[in-house]
Amino acid sequence: SEHDTLLEVSGLRAGYGRIVGVDDVSIAVRAGELVALLGANGAGKSTILRALSGMITPWSGSVVFDGRDVTGMRSDTLVRAGLVHVPEGRRVLARLTVEENLRLGAFSRRDRAGIAETMDQVFTRFERLAERRHQKAGTLSGGEQQMLVIGRALMSRPKLLLLDEPSLGLSPRLVHEVFELIRSLAADGQTVLLVEQNVVQGLKVADRGYVLTTGRVTSAGDSAKLLADPSLVRSYLGGQ
Ligand code: ATP
Repeated sequence: SEHDTLLEVSGLRAGYGRIVGVDDVSIAVRAGELVALLGANGAGKSTILRALSGMITPWSGSVVFDGRDVTGMRSDTLVRAGLVHVPEGRRVLARLTVEENLRLGAFSRRDRAGIAETMDQVFTRFERLAERRHQKAGTLSGGEQQMLVIGRALMSRPKLLLLDEPSLGLSPRLVHEVFELIRSLAADGQTVLLVEQNVVQGLKVADRGYVLTTGRVTSAGDSAKLLADPSLVRSYLGGQ
């Protein structure tokens, strides 16, 4: 129903200087859903996440989050509202420990007991981070750093988690692990908007997907429906 729509993006246009990144994009995410933004390199997926999280300012269109118009709001305001972005590139603070990195993710919270509780939950979910909690983040493997940036985002208890290509550059085994983790977060009720270049892999993990081509949505629907579309699958399998 309309009531459980957590995010509604209408007619979004955004870009960089004169470069149009996305043009007239409309998408929605309901509470509890795992939705994927799919498409080739440069299609505009990251631009959507950046415009949603305040990293760039939309040129036009509107973003309604949790019943409130948040178009053009600043990142820290959005984090407080429950919209948290994990950008591409897994930027951890290399010289801080795992625990210190996680603590930074709770910057918007004041409840010490609640923060400690969330950290326990993160360590329960990510056992390898728990084992390395006093280790400097720079010494972690790529897969562990990806877990850490996701864990850091969870420290703010987001209503909506925006994940940009968490599998990028990981070995096939770690890609599988990261997708399993995202699936388990979603199974526990976390709403996720996931950017993924690999259309087939993204659809296998998500409930629904939007396929972008040069800044516009060109296909959308339930993952099963999109996976059953031979022309779509063929056009993206060719490129991998
Ligand atoms: P990728 O997998 O490369 O992140 P994407 O689908 O996320 O692909 P975007 O990064 O959103 O695509 O790029 C959309 C368009 O905006 C592309 O034409 C890209 O070249 C351009 N673009 C992206 N970031 C910048 C930037 N920082 N400055 C200028 N142009 C940019």
